[in-house]
Amino acid sequence: MVIRSIARAKINLVLNVLGKRPDGYHEVETVMQSVALHDRLEFSPGTGGIKLSVAGGDIPPGKENLVYRAAELVRTQTGIRQGVNVLIKKAIPVAAGLGGGSADAAATLVALNKMWQTGYSLSELMRLGEQLGADVPFCLLGGTALAGGKGEQLEPLPSCPGLGLVLVKPPIGVSTAEVYRAFRPELVEKKPDCRAMVKNLKEGNIAGIVENLANALEPVTMKMHPQIAVIKKKLLAAGALGALMSGSGPTVFGLARDPEAARAIAARYDKTYEQVLVTGTCNRGTQIE
Ligand code: ATP
Repeated sequence: MVIRSIARAKINLVLNVLGKRPDGYHEVETVMQSVALHDRLEFSPGTGGIKLSVAGGDIPPGKENLVYRAAELVRTQTGIRQGVNVLIKKAIPVAAGLGGGSADAAATLVALNKMWQTGYSLSELMRLGEQLGADVPFCLLGGTALAGGKGEQLEPLPSCPGLGLVLVKPPIGVSTAEVYRAFRPELVEKKPDCRAMVKNLKEGNIAGIVENLANALEPVTMKMHPQIAVIKKKLLAAGALGALMSGSGPTVFGLARDPEAARAIAARYDKTYEQVLVTGTCNRGTQIE
């Protein structure tokens, strides 16, 4: 039996950093949105523990991989000793602010729950996922959600209008931990307002959504990598309604009214220096095929 799963990326439509917690993590408030761009994972029963193979992306194939850690977590939680072979077909850019590792971890939890018939409910899987990364519970839930805490406390929101997205990733990887370390409240120029974003999402008001795009981490990563400001300008010049860095970056997304408008923006965008992907918002996260 082969189980195939789809692991969708995410963007942050708004992200606010509220302060540092006693455990060293930062308290965030963010509106997360699933996007259609996804990795594909294939799981088949194996005999020799957890074995990974990776196609199409530069990620570790061993114990450091979040897929390995997710599978190991299910095995230790349940005492299951069965092995599994996993093929990860990577399409989400790595270390990009698009939550690719978290999405793969979420897809692993869902697939192994089915393969090993462990019977976890979605909320139980979300609690397990928290141990792997703050974005994993969101990837399991999918759609549109307001997140608090480290990002793991979720409140589902009504679906975002189906928007087109142009994702632009410069040829650099960013360490999320390093960006949070360099965060200073005084760097933030446009104060992220999650409440206003939620209101506009509920109303399906695209102009309001665009107006409220804001990310407190953007100026931090931008200081390290000034080309992020250039990408934003280029996306707007190519016709994007708005543009914002996702998560800790460096990927910048440009919003468009629909996927066709996103394709037109991407066609106008000079791709000499950056990877450009066309996708759209999606109301599902992780999914078994
Ligand atoms: P986040 O915003 O959740 O920090 P990100 O999009 O910035 O995520 P990822 O693509 O998840 O970054 O990768 C972060 C790091 O995790 C990379 O250094 C990568 O080597 C490691 N990693 C481990 N497993 C995976 C995986 N399955 N897919 C992608 N990265 C992985």
